[in-house]
Amino acid sequence: MGILIRQCIQSISFGFSVLNKITSLFKEREKVNWEEERLKMVDNQIVKRGIKDERVLDAMRKIPRHLFVPIDQRNNAYEDCPLSIGEGQTISQPYMVACMTEALRLQGNEKVLELGTGSGYQTAILAELAESVYTIERIIVLSERARRALKDLNYQNIHFKVGDGTYGWPEEKPFDRIIVTAGAPDISQVLIDQLKENGILVVPVGSRYSQTLYRVIKRKDKVEKENITLCVFVPLIGDHGWKE
Ligand code: SAH
Repeated sequence: MGILIRQCIQSISFGFSVLNKITSLFKEREKVNWEEERLKMVDNQIVKRGIKDERVLDAMRKIPRHLFVPIDQRNNAYEDCPLSIGEGQTISQPYMVACMTEALRLQGNEKVLELGTGSGYQTAILAELAESVYTIERIIVLSERARRALKDLNYQNIHFKVGDGTYGWPEEKPFDRIIVTAGAPDISQVLIDQLKENGILVVPVGSRYSQTLYRVIKRKDKVEKENITLCVFVPLIGDHGWKE
């Protein structure tokens, strides 16, 4: 009896996933107006919540977020939430991407380090707004998928690495900006040491389950810390992060 019920549940969930894929394909066939969805996303989720940096808004109007999510999630790519990208990881909510990017105060000539490539969507935004991006991801399949998506969009200023990003990228220091897109247990001195003077680090810090987003500015003889918002990220796992 138990086996029968389990088989039933399995076939129902298989049916749902097939249905989801078919709907997705139909939407593709109908040539969903992705651009229209993107413009609506920026107006309704980002401008309305107070993001003002025009360069950030323009980058988000331009970059095809649907190309960074798994095919069966494409219909949801412009929704107001994070989405699963496999391997237990997520692509951040569009508003959180906007908020973190605005906090970096990019002008266009910066060398940026990103920890947690994930889908590569935030990486694309950084590549639009800075001079060069150095991005590290610990899960090889995610890094490769992101690399492919970013290559298809022809970005030339992104450098990829697979490994534990909590060590930073010492061979390439110092950086003008560092962004951590996973939740850290603390503000790491290892990363501060790889920042230029007056450089900015944006990082979610807190418990494994909820964090506060901080902007940290490295001054000559002190570190300024500013609290931006509450947030929830997957954990930053590594020798200077959380244990697995
Ligand atoms: N910016 C990404 C966020 C992905 S979620 C996006 O919007 O798609 C955070 C990512 O950080 C995950 O892919 C996770 O595997 C990665 N990560 C966690 N700990 C890491 C570490 N120590 N070094 C590099 N990447 C790490």
